[in-house]
Amino acid sequence: MDAGLFIALVFPGVALIFSAAFFALWLNQPQRRYLLALSLSCISLGIGFAFQYFVVFNDIISRLISNLALLVGVCGFLSACLVRYGRVKGILPISAAGVAGFAIYLWYLHVDHNITARIFVINFTIATIMLLMALEVRKTPRHHLIDKAVFYLLIFWSATSALRPFIVIVLEEPPLDYQSLRTSLYWMTLVFSALLFMILFPLIQIISIALEIWDDLKQVSVTYSLSGLLNRRGFEEASAHCLEQAQRRGIAMSLVVCDLDHFKSINDTYGHALGDEVIKVFAKCLKDTLQCEHIGGRIGGEEFAVLLEGTNELGAKLFSEGVRTQFSTLSVPGLPDRPKRTASFGVAEWVPGEKPRALFVRADLALYAAKDAGRDCVRVAESRISPLRADRSPVAGQAGY
Ligand code: GH3
Ligand code: MG
Ligand code: MG
Repeated sequence: MDAGLFIALVFPGVALIFSAAFFALWLNQPQRRYLLALSLSCISLGIGFAFQYFVVFNDIISRLISNLALLVGVCGFLSACLVRYGRVKGILPISAAGVAGFAIYLWYLHVDHNITARIFVINFTIATIMLLMALEVRKTPRHHLIDKAVFYLLIFWSATSALRPFIVIVLEEPPLDYQSLRTSLYWMTLVFSALLFMILFPLIQIISIALEIWDDLKQVSVTYSLSGLLNRRGFEEASAHCLEQAQRRGIAMSLVVCDLDHFKSINDTYGHALGDEVIKVFAKCLKDTLQCEHIGGRIGGEEFAVLLEGTNELGAKLFSEGVRTQFSTLSVPGLPDRPKRTASFGVAEWVPGEKPRALFVRADLALYAAKDAGRDCVRVAESRISPLRADRSPVAGQAGY
């Protein structure tokens, strides 16, 4: 098989495999429409590569179709990546650079037949597009190492594209026709780095998209969907991490647990659906009071918890009083304003070195003290509890804490 045919089959083959991969991902995640754009862009790239070798109609038309398809493929692929990164503004300059480069290329193809000029135009256009893309990628919040790799890959590709035409001048005689171009050192380096890029860039995108989907699923699995508060698992994970940090940084932490009062009777009187409304109103009230350094979760049916970073017992008590007063004044759609709905609160300031579970038990005992005191109030935990009292806490036997 001649080398040209081999290359003509490998490039479209790779492009089609990635197109199929992006398409399969899109079928699974149709809300991520950029996946479909990535798939179609790969098809365009495949057509572009195929027409580099196979001649349809005549040489000029084939080359025109090929370069146009490659331009559409590259710009489409990068635009879809920019949509994914939330950098839609970057699409215009990149597409403008692509179109301008293509127009100059056409000039040297049809008007001023200059093959060396065309080599410079194509490579400088690629270098510019990749540099612009790298600058956009730099501005996106990159969570995973693999996303950082995209930036360095683009810089590498931009630099090699900018330097490549000089091979033509310094190391070789400028090619006189396409035949001598295809056997040149320049062509070899172009094919090699294009193949490397064609495999690496989409592969990194697929891995990065898979990690993103994974992160989203993880987020859903730890969030209570109605309010955006964390669910029990999410709250336990986040607060355990936060307490570890507090240990290292030596900052104060306090835990508040709260429980709606006489909630069973609300359910019994007005039905489960209106009971749910009460939970939603409380969750929203709590969520609106939280600041960015607070972690809030719905840890049970009508039970909530908040970990307050940098807050001592007094601050946590004031926070709880605020939520308690606010909630008792809120209306719930479909329910009469009286009797007012209330909640009870237990507060415990973290003692350095204390395990999350022990902190939770103390806050929970304080909550039960609030219930014993007649509800609709806040109680603060003792800083130490005897093992005997710890056993009385209803959460003592539960998993996690
Ligand atoms: P207390 O003041 O002592 O906390 O009394 P209470 O009635 O609130 O406490 P109890 O634990 O006896 O009842 C809690 C009720 O909450 C029982 C359960 O059916 C109800 N519940 C738990 N999760 C949900 C939920 O998601 N929606 C609704 N509507 N009810 C729930
Ligand atoms: Mg309860
Ligand atoms: Mg209750």
